[in-house]
Amino acid sequence: MTARTKLGLQHVATSGGIDYRLAREATLAAFRDGDLSREQLCDAQRELVRNAEFCGTPAGRDCPMCEQPTLVEVTYVFGPRLPKHGRCVTSDREMHRIASRKSVSTGYVVEVCPACRWNHLTESRAIGGA
Ligand SMILES: [Zn+2]
Repeated sequence: MTARTKLGLQHVATSGGIDYRLAREATLAAFRDGDLSREQLCDAQRELVRNAEFCGTPAGRDCPMCEQPTLVEVTYVFGPRLPKHGRCVTSDREMHRIASRKSVSTGYVVEVCPACRWNHLTESRAIGGA
């Protein structure tokens, strides 16, 4: 895997967006309390794990489940003139190109651990439409 810098959406966002940190913490608390099983949380689909390996950028924090430094963030963008299943954006350049469009797209950042298959949405924001 080539070294990539963290992408994020803040620098290209046209709206405040939604932060899913509270939902993530609630999910992890439910796991600690025994209300959710590891199997329920570490259920990343094969496609997502593959995107994490090939398009992920280091999250800069350990996986909350297996505590390995393998956690990455995968950024998807959905919108006009993009594939129906979204585009997995891997570079700042590509992100800026989509953000410079007149049409509004929505970016989603998912944190994924390819080691244990933990995955959780971390943020979503509208981009483009300027
Ligand atoms: Zn993990």
